[in-house]
Amino acid sequence: MTPLQALQKYYGYTQFRHQQEAIIKQVMSGGDALVLMPTGGGKSLCYQLPAVLLPGLTLVISPLIALMKDQVDALNLTGIPAAYLNSTQSSGEQTNIISRVKNGEIKLLYLAPERLFSSESRLVSFLKQLPVSLIAIDEAHCISHWGHDFRPEYLMLAHFKTEFPLIPVIALTATADELTRQDIRDKLALHQPAEFVSSFNRPNISYTVSPKKNAYQQLLHFLNERRDESGIIYCLSRAATEDLATDLRAQGYAASAYHAGLDIDTKARNQEQFLRDEIKIMVATIAFGMGINKSNVRYVVHYDLPKNIEGYYQETGRAGRDGLPSEALLFFSAGDAFKLKNFARVEGNEEQSAIMLKKLDDMVKYCQLQTCRRQYLMHYFNEPFGDHCGSCDVCLTEYKTIDGTVLAQKALSAVARLDQRFGANYVIDLLRGSKSEKIWADHKQLKTYGIGADVSKADWQRYIAQLVTQGYLRTTDDQYPILKLTDQSEDVLKGRQKVEFSIAEEVELATELQTPVYEAGLLQDLKTIRLNLAMKENVPAYLILSDATLLEIATYLPQTPNELSKISGFGEVKLVRYGDAFLQATLAYCHQYGLTSKIGTKQSKPATRTKSPRASSGNTQRESLELYKGGLSLDEIAQQRQLSITTIQNHLCGFIETGELDVYELVTAKKIPAIQDAIEKYGTERLAPLKEVLGDAYTYAEIKAVISWSKKDQA
Ligand code: ADP
Ligand code: ZN
Repeated sequence: MTPLQALQKYYGYTQFRHQQEAIIKQVMSGGDALVLMPTGGGKSLCYQLPAVLLPGLTLVISPLIALMKDQVDALNLTGIPAAYLNSTQSSGEQTNIISRVKNGEIKLLYLAPERLFSSESRLVSFLKQLPVSLIAIDEAHCISHWGHDFRPEYLMLAHFKTEFPLIPVIALTATADELTRQDIRDKLALHQPAEFVSSFNRPNISYTVSPKKNAYQQLLHFLNERRDESGIIYCLSRAATEDLATDLRAQGYAASAYHAGLDIDTKARNQEQFLRDEIKIMVATIAFGMGINKSNVRYVVHYDLPKNIEGYYQETGRAGRDGLPSEALLFFSAGDAFKLKNFARVEGNEEQSAIMLKKLDDMVKYCQLQTCRRQYLMHYFNEPFGDHCGSCDVCLTEYKTIDGTVLAQKALSAVARLDQRFGANYVIDLLRGSKSEKIWADHKQLKTYGIGADVSKADWQRYIAQLVTQGYLRTTDDQYPILKLTDQSEDVLKGRQKVEFSIAEEVELATELQTPVYEAGLLQDLKTIRLNLAMKENVPAYLILSDATLLEIATYLPQTPNELSKISGFGEVKLVRYGDAFLQATLAYCHQYGLTSKIGTKQSKPATRTKSPRASSGNTQRESLELYKGGLSLDEIAQQRQLSITTIQNHLCGFIETGELDVYELVTAKKIPAIQDAIEKYGTERLAPLKEVLGDAYTYAEIKAVISWSKKDQA
């Protein structure tokens, strides 16, 4: 069986993601590997598939005992025999597992690091008698002091290479910085590991930062539109998580708190209920989340400012593992930044303090961006990215210019009438005709009183801020800044100078990010069936099938087992076990509403091959190739041959597909992962959407080249 066949058989997926295939090849050929992939990128498959394909046993080291069960359940549901050994099991259970391992009935054995190499442990000598063929170390950054989750017990994993010198080790993490990487390589004593760094972009997550004003009301508004969805809300303090969870419960939400101060049982119970969708909202400190594989987390809210971009990105990454559109919302206030600044100072360690403050500063900059947030994040992780992602709040806000001359005259004359002795709030209240006692009685007699009542307070604040930046007003440096006129004010008041304001307009989310048209009623039915199956099997619902899989069924309406097998996520075992239940429901629904299968419209992957240049007709293409190899640029070839650049690009890309031209000739290696990601997400049918998500940093030629390259691999 090839890795691709195994992918289809066990997982029901038709294509590898990121560099999964290359990683699998590396470990199957006996080499060590270091894998960096964002959360939700698909790391598990990189050792699970080799485990199935290789003879013997794969050991998996994972830091969180509480989550081993989840992973093992997931594997067993796909028909891959797996088990774990940990301290929560009775000795009877342990003996049973050990004998199944001895009999070769288990392909993957999950272990906690502390059990392995402690002095009294006999586990290693037991494992050494077994045909171990691969060792996988998940969350490998836990071995490093530089990572954000250092776990001393991970240091013991250094013994693997001495105890099992010939067994390949694959280390996996979602933390990217070079120091941590170096630590992983050194401490695990990896032998010339191949390194696989994927793009860290998560195209299905959209990023929004909101000013933290009435945050609770804003949050309620946000949640109200997502009543049935699952999400995580991060707070800075333990007390805040409990307070907020209590408030949300009072509003009728199934919310619970999670932080390191809770006792083990409560933590385990809350976590379990969250996985099983009995709790929809987890209000947590950053203690929550590592190793949580729940694939249908639809949003992550940061109620308080995170301390650094690394943590923020890791936390937001817990949304949307199933690839469906998901949201990251952060509430930002300058006050939060100020508070964190005090925390960031480490007593007696100037160097560390400086690093922490710099990281905090980068976090604050992110919140104050006027440019694409995703671009900032990608650049932070040293990855090229265009300047328009189309799915962050900045990209989704368009600014249009309006003639603000009359508004400006109203504001400036109010400032003048008040003898330039009041601040912005007072001026705005006056303009809006506030009845408040705070407004002096004689000011209520002024001609400017109430002349701006048709404009909201928030809009006036924006206009006045723009008048200040444009120099028609200035503010004093006092504790309560006062608005003053400037030399330029008079021109505006006398009508000699026009003023323009720019105002924000929300634009529609890029259509590519919207989910396809699906039958909402059917989706509900499918979810009910899934829940019943999950209860019967005693596992969380998303382990039976992901939301993305159900959504595909509700979109393409498969009518036969064969059609159902084309739905992503239905491996052989799941098809046999659960296929019928979902098929019956789909048939009944289609019958009721007179619908038929749309499976034919599902983009068949791998993408249809475009014709590659054949030798006989290939003379014109080959001529371009020769010129290129002769050192001419695309421009020069186009000129010389009197053909368009696009034609020349097409010629050359054909040779990438046939293997005669290296993709790196046309694209730098760094740019490839992002293009691959976009291809995976949007397919290769049309170039325009790819170009749009990737932005100006990527040319059509580069995109085409990577498409041709991916076709080469599939050929
Ligand atoms: P990570 O460990 O990197 O955070 P996971 O291994 O949990 O990510 O994978 C995230 C999700 O993506 C899982 O639901 C997994 O089944 C799915 N997935 C992984 N590889 C593929 C693939 N090649 N095609 C489709 N889905 C995939
Ligand atoms: Zn953007």
